[in-house]
Amino acid sequence: MTLLDKIATVLLAVGGMELFAWSMHKYVMHGWGWAWHRDHHEPHHNVLERNDLFAVVFGSIVVALFIIGYYWSERLWWAAMGITVYGAIYAFIHDGLVHQRLFKWTPKHGYAKRLVQAHRLHHATIGKEGGVSFGFVVARDPARLKAELKRQREAGTAVVRPASVD
Ligand SMILES: [Zn+2]
Ligand SMILES: [Zn+2]
Repeated sequence: MTLLDKIATVLLAVGGMELFAWSMHKYVMHGWGWAWHRDHHEPHHNVLERNDLFAVVFGSIVVALFIIGYYWSERLWWAAMGITVYGAIYAFIHDGLVHQRLFKWTPKHGYAKRLVQAHRLHHATIGKEGGVSFGFVVARDPARLKAELKRQREAGTAVVRPASVD
C-alpha cells in the first residue's frame, strides 16, 4: 500500500466509526443493550460503569482485527488503526471533555464547547426512550437539540430532566 492509501484508509475508518458509534448508541445501547448503558445515564459515585463493558468488547474486536490484518490484510490493519484513532478521539471527547473522568478542563468556546453541550443534552433525558445527539465527534447546534428535546417532551416520546432545556 502507498502512504496515501494508508492515510485514506485511516481517515475512512475514523469517519465510518462516527457513523457506527452513532447507530450503535442510538439503536443498541438505547435499545436491547440498555442494561449495560443504563448506569452511564444515572448519577453515581463509582469509578467504573457497566457501560465501560462496551469499550472492552469493542477494544477486543479491534485487537482481533489487528491480528487478522497482520496476517492476511494490510488494509484491514490500517482500518484497525483508524478505529483505534477514533477510540482515542472518543475517549478524549466523551470521557475527558464531557464527563471529566480523565482530566478536568471544560472548553469555553468554539466547536469543543458545542461538543460538550451536545453530549450534556444527550444526558438530559431519563430512561432509554427518545433523546438527542447520539454521535460524539459530529454535534448539531445545541439550540436545535434543545428544541428537539422540547418537541419530544411535548409529544411524550421522552422524559426530559426539568431545567435542562428551559
Ligand atoms: Zn446514551
Ligand atoms: Zn455520556
